[in-house]
Amino acid sequence: MTQSRPRRIVLKFGTNLLTSGQGRLDIDFMSSLVAQVAGLHREGYEVLIVSSGAVAAGRHKLGLSKEPTQELKGIPLKQVLAAVGQSRLMKTYEELFEPHQITVAQALLTRSGLTDRAGYLNARNTLLALMEMGIIGVINENDVVAVEELEDGRFGDNDNLSAMVANLVDADLLVLLTDIGGLYTADPHCHAEARLIPEITEITPEVEAAAAGPQSKSSTGGMITKIEAAKLACSSGVTVVIASGREPDIITRLARGEAIGTRFLPSGKRESRARWMISGLCTRGQLTIDDGAAKALSRQKRSLLAAGIKKVDGDFERGDIVDIFDGAGLKLGSGISN
Ligand code: GLU
Repeated sequence: MTQSRPRRIVLKFGTNLLTSGQGRLDIDFMSSLVAQVAGLHREGYEVLIVSSGAVAAGRHKLGLSKEPTQELKGIPLKQVLAAVGQSRLMKTYEELFEPHQITVAQALLTRSGLTDRAGYLNARNTLLALMEMGIIGVINENDVVAVEELEDGRFGDNDNLSAMVANLVDADLLVLLTDIGGLYTADPHCHAEARLIPEITEITPEVEAAAAGPQSKSSTGGMITKIEAAKLACSSGVTVVIASGREPDIITRLARGEAIGTRFLPSGKRESRARWMISGLCTRGQLTIDDGAAKALSRQKRSLLAAGIKKVDGDFERGDIVDIFDGAGLKLGSGISN
């Protein structure tokens, strides 16, 4: 079965994939990914890459093992590794794209940097301009700044970042390339009966439960962050595929619409401002409103008047996005404060 062909694609490469699990960038493998991207670029596809691998490249450069040695305790080690590794990662992409006569550009984003409308628009305009000029943007989280992403032992969360990027540029397709074949009904490593789920029309609690199993451990961000990312991207009208980057010609075949891995169908409409709001990453406050106002908003699609607001939390200004809750704490939606 083939689907319609996407034109603008965001590709996310995870650390395990780029390092082949070896703790260092696997240049030969990266070169095969780059060759596929270059092929699509020649055919007129617009491609952005969200690439992990900076921390791993930094670790390898400094000759450090996974466990920090005693002397390094107390140093913001992952930030240091990301700072060292990011330039090596970019150098690798530059060198690999060069024979294809393709220029690459680095864009380091933070999720908080995209939380105000100006930051969102600046990033969007830059990424769109790069595509317009035929330059391939290579995006990573700015790990030196975004420390909160690194604290819980995970190397940040480029899955969600890639969903934000897909949202930002109105992508047709987001491909999360990882080291397993997609989302399975159970962990395929230990359950012989586990089946790959080829298509998901709605991310239900059952889908989330399937992702929460041990299979989530087989990639850096895990399957859970991939499902979160899929949910975010799908709700803003992007098709998402989770697939194995080890599959031959995977990028080319997915761009052609071949059904490989797990495909999540878009659930929402494609409209940039709404996307920015539903990304939920930009809210600055929470309003709790009374029943009358809740009814006016949800049934009559009216604006929220100050009289209906019972409680205000957070620190926000005119133009900022706020989340709106009813008296029972149920989130009704988000809006722009006036
Ligand atoms: N930003 C991290 C890195 O480049 C990876 C984040 C992630 O894999 O989610 O090493």
